[in-house]
Amino acid sequence: MSIQSFHPPVRTLMGPGPSDVNPRILEAMSRPTIGHLDPVFVGMMEEMKELLRYAFQTSNQLTMPVSAPGSTGMETCFVNLVEPGDKVVVCQNGVFGGRMKENVERSGGTAVMVQDNWGRAVDVNKVEEALKANPDARILAFVHAETSTGAISDARVLAEVARKHDCLTIVDTVTSLAGSPLMVDDWQLDAVYSGTQKCLSCVPGLSPVTFSQKALDVVTSRKTTVQSWFMDLNLVLGYWGGGGKRAYHHTAPINTLYALHEALVILQEEGIENSWTRHKKNHDALKAGIEAMGLKFVVPEGERLPQLNAVSIPSGVDEAVVRSALLSEYNLEIGAGLGAMAGKIWRIGLMGYASNQTNVLFCLGALDAVLSGMKAPISSGVAVDAARAVYAG
Ligand SMILES: *Cc1c(COP(=O)(O)O)cnc(C)c1O
Repeated sequence: MSIQSFHPPVRTLMGPGPSDVNPRILEAMSRPTIGHLDPVFVGMMEEMKELLRYAFQTSNQLTMPVSAPGSTGMETCFVNLVEPGDKVVVCQNGVFGGRMKENVERSGGTAVMVQDNWGRAVDVNKVEEALKANPDARILAFVHAETSTGAISDARVLAEVARKHDCLTIVDTVTSLAGSPLMVDDWQLDAVYSGTQKCLSCVPGLSPVTFSQKALDVVTSRKTTVQSWFMDLNLVLGYWGGGGKRAYHHTAPINTLYALHEALVILQEEGIENSWTRHKKNHDALKAGIEAMGLKFVVPEGERLPQLNAVSIPSGVDEAVVRSALLSEYNLEIGAGLGAMAGKIWRIGLMGYASNQTNVLFCLGALDAVLSGMKAPISSGVAVDAARAVYAG
């Protein structure tokens, strides 16, 4: 027996990421591989930085994709900015804040945790108190869009409070970039990282980051060397930095970068405000359908992410059975709960290319059919019409 080529099924991806990839992006990836120091490639890298500045709404010189998934963007921020002995205030209202704590400690720092209930935004007053109680803290770290719970926090106000207490900010925007308003310069965020496979609808494997001048100054004036060779920005910038001279650091994931370039061109064509509006509109329609069925959102109105809808499981329903029926009968993927939310919620993603009317109606119809078939306690046959009414205006 010989192993054959791998042909995955065509799915509709409405989980917490990856989201459906625009076919234009897959086509861009299949273009010829060229050298990572080829002048034509270097020209593409310069365009990429410009396109990323648009996506982040920043003019930061240091704006580039790290050659690995979102988690590496997170690590890049922490290992470069945190020195042994540094104190960092970390906000946790879901899974990813917990990872930030790990990153602080592995960088030799001390994390002061500000805990909020999962499913809620970060409480600015608690953060202010923590900063007052820890005047030696140097950094405030928080997640803008908590993908594990579907809650969005007020990044603008959190950054304002951090500045008042002379702290830099490290901000996780993996799920917010291109899906919810994010203004790196206006809000004066310092070290910001994201991912490609959420609202940019690109393939996974890259992590766009952007650093303010203040943050970059901290990186270049460290007393100790960055403990990670691969993520040390002082070295990475020899390849990605400005100027004509490019030194080999690592082989860039060339075709994956073509994909991100295309994803960002698509974003530019749509216009970033239009992308935010589209995500909101599709969320409103999905919400109407979910609530018509009698299902409940986990996050209170006003703190909800349009691109990640956390829905409570109706009583008596085995949530894994529902997800597996959606996958096998509809080729539709929705997400399970993560961490403390496991078994309690579904996470329905409406990210990037997947955030469209067809998917909203398809998902509601499929969920309605599967739940009705199980005799789950929902109102059947009304969800799709409720969503259609939103689109009809
Ligand atoms: C997905 C995600 C990450 C991690 O990104 P990977 O590409 O999976 O490494 C980090 N933070 C948030 C908020 C995310 O949603």
